[in-house]
Amino acid sequence: MEFETLCLHADGNKKDGWGTLTTPVCQTSTFVHKGVGVQSEYSYSRLSNPTRSHLENTVARLEGGVAAFAFSSGMSALTTVMKLFGANSHIIASDDLYGGSLRLFNNVCTVEGMSFDFVDTGDISLVQSLIKANTKAIYVETPSNPLMQVSDIAALSALARKSGLPLIVDNTFLTPYFQRPIALGADIVIHSGTKFLGGHNDALAGFAVARTAELAERIGYYFKTIGACLAPWDCFLIERGIKTLPLRMDRINCNAKEIADWLRGRKQVKRVYYAGFADNARYAVSVKQATGFGGMVSFEVESKQLAEKILANVKVFQYAESLGGVESLITYPMLQTHADVPKNERERRGINERFLRISVGIENIKDLIDDLKQAFAD
Ligand SMILES: *Cc1c(COP(=O)(O)O)cnc(C)c1O
Repeated sequence: MEFETLCLHADGNKKDGWGTLTTPVCQTSTFVHKGVGVQSEYSYSRLSNPTRSHLENTVARLEGGVAAFAFSSGMSALTTVMKLFGANSHIIASDDLYGGSLRLFNNVCTVEGMSFDFVDTGDISLVQSLIKANTKAIYVETPSNPLMQVSDIAALSALARKSGLPLIVDNTFLTPYFQRPIALGADIVIHSGTKFLGGHNDALAGFAVARTAELAERIGYYFKTIGACLAPWDCFLIERGIKTLPLRMDRINCNAKEIADWLRGRKQVKRVYYAGFADNARYAVSVKQATGFGGMVSFEVESKQLAEKILANVKVFQYAESLGGVESLITYPMLQTHADVPKNERERRGINERFLRISVGIENIKDLIDDLKQAFAD
């Protein structure tokens, strides 16, 4: 089955005995035993639930893994996966990461005795040079948030395998429609399902997808023990979102390209960060490993005043955190997603008071460009 069809029919169409077309929301915490010692498929919804199983099977197939786990948020997926690594574990991670992931690593995992090196994971020899006896994983976002840095998943996977390390990829930005990390050699894929997979800015969710049965068993143990599972109704919403993932991603991809080009042509814009520019240093890597560039565009304007004016003036774009939904959003990373990153570090990387990030939605491109035009105008 092709990807678009899998988004609708990945888990077969055996949903219940009634022949419902859509997956029923099994709003139950527990399941009645069939008899003493008789094993049932479901027993308690923290462990598994039919609505959730259906969604998980779909996501596992879309990502090409053996199993997926649906969590209550992207952060709970990542927190649970981090339990695979004990105290004293060292992890090499991308230096441009979602702010919450950085906070988890720096302020929670380190308290538990883990340590991290944050580097440009696009530089394979640099990553290799940091591998130590206690290194336990390589963690990558590509393209990264919010600077859109690209890392070569296949090259990192070759290094990870040679070194006996799992490669973990946060695939939130491109989704399996554009990029399938497991096919490129990754071992675990993480998602904030809140973003493009759900796609409607109406539900939080997270996923961890495992390449092997062994990893699935280990993640599954922490999943059921920690209990940050996705509730049935939210599973239904995310599953409904996934049905239109390819359509949405195609439109978002086209809209984002036009917006990135338009921004680049403005003299008040100093720099545009977008994975789809042919003159990017790692454009060839993007084209090799992904079939689209996604909907994320960051840019730096000439002054703080202009950044604030744009945020105040936009009418179609909504000034809000998050990304990946049908509505276009604009955010101020310095104050929102990356507020917890130390100032020096943030500024050094260009996430300053002139830096804005856009998540492009599915509106008509003319309205989006017109909105930016009026927001920029004096
Ligand atoms: C939003 C996001 C997360 C965290 O996901 P939540 O669903 O908000 O918990 C992780 N990684 C990336 C790239 C994100 O954009």
